[in-house]
Amino acid sequence: MASLKDYEKKRRFAKTPEPGPEKKTTRSGRIFVIQKHRASHLHYDFRLEADGVLKSWAVPKGPALDPKVKRLAMQVEDHPVDYAKFEGVIPEGEYGGGTVMVWDYGTYQPENTADVAAAIRKGELKFSLKGKKLMGSWALVRTRDRQWLLIKHRDHYAAEGLDVTEVAPASILTRRTLAEIAEDEGGDVRKAATGDPKKIPPRTGVKRRKKGQKKKVWTR
Ligand code: MN
Repeated sequence: MASLKDYEKKRRFAKTPEPGPEKKTTRSGRIFVIQKHRASHLHYDFRLEADGVLKSWAVPKGPALDPKVKRLAMQVEDHPVDYAKFEGVIPEGEYGGGTVMVWDYGTYQPENTADVAAAIRKGELKFSLKGKKLMGSWALVRTRDRQWLLIKHRDHYAAEGLDVTEVAPASILTRRTLAEIAEDEGGDVRKAATGDPKKIPPRTGVKRRKKGQKKKVWTR
């Protein structure tokens, strides 16, 4: 599957604040991140650390806590491990141009293998997440080519009739909304808030910081 070379080829690092294509391993070797990304369309990028990179899928509708709901997940190019901390604005006109939020972050444990990269090559990975929003047992199952399904297993953390992306919309790093990130980082606030740069939202939810006021950082 597409490697860090593809990651590098798609981007101009003089233009984008995204991290360069370095391989590395975290202390646990098993981090995961979900990034909410308003590019041409809103989607959620689901990433799992394996073999020095973040294996990555774009999930258009985001994760669902209901085991009956299978969410389409398109495998995309591997991302560098440092990408897990990236929250900000990719300039318009650059690859993936738009606003990126760290929507959830934590560690995972594979359940059906010790070799995560091999399980991904085979097309089925069961794993359990220990995030701030997502917990418990999940599966990624390939249906064809780059097309996978992200499925919640039935466990204590499963829930029906609750859209976790609506209940918990903001950044796990900074508690900001997409519109607030866009505003802080010089992005398109209207597009971040509504998906359409020409549409004026009735309310963006953006609270403007006064000059000199520190960014709020979430501490537990
Ligand atoms: Mn994306």
